[in-house]
Amino acid sequence: MAGLNDLYQEILLEHNSKPHNFRSMEDATQSAEGFNPLCGDMITVFLQVADGVINDVSFQGSGCAISRASASMMTQSVKGKSTSEAEETFEAFRLMMTDLDAELDYDTLGDLESLSGVVEFPTRIKCAVLAWHTLRAAMDGQDDAVTTE
Ligand code: ZN
Repeated sequence: MAGLNDLYQEILLEHNSKPHNFRSMEDATQSAEGFNPLCGDMITVFLQVADGVINDVSFQGSGCAISRASASMMTQSVKGKSTSEAEETFEAFRLMMTDLDAELDYDTLGDLESLSGVVEFPTRIKCAVLAWHTLRAAMDGQDDAVTTE
């Protein structure tokens, strides 16, 4: 993708070709489905939560490189965190995706920073946030499928 710097591009490609936690989960305590009609990205997020801590997280689905890479990074980012920490990470990520001038919390964002260039491609932002909206729906125990529209 022209415009993303080389390092970011490399991280994205790496997550896209070898996504982390890309599997179904038999003993999930919560799950949710998300759909981005603009691009056709579909995702299911599985969680295993106990005492407010995300002990395991995985995803399945099909979608573009950005949506897959973002979902992969999301699972890495929130695994082992409390649901409130995951919520804070989502807020930091959403800020990065919606406000070009925002002061970013790089400690919280970690690898997710590599998706910052996506903000320059407005049509792809929904691809990047889909996994996070779906994560939140799973944490909330929401039954209806999430859509980015
Ligand atoms: Zn997409």
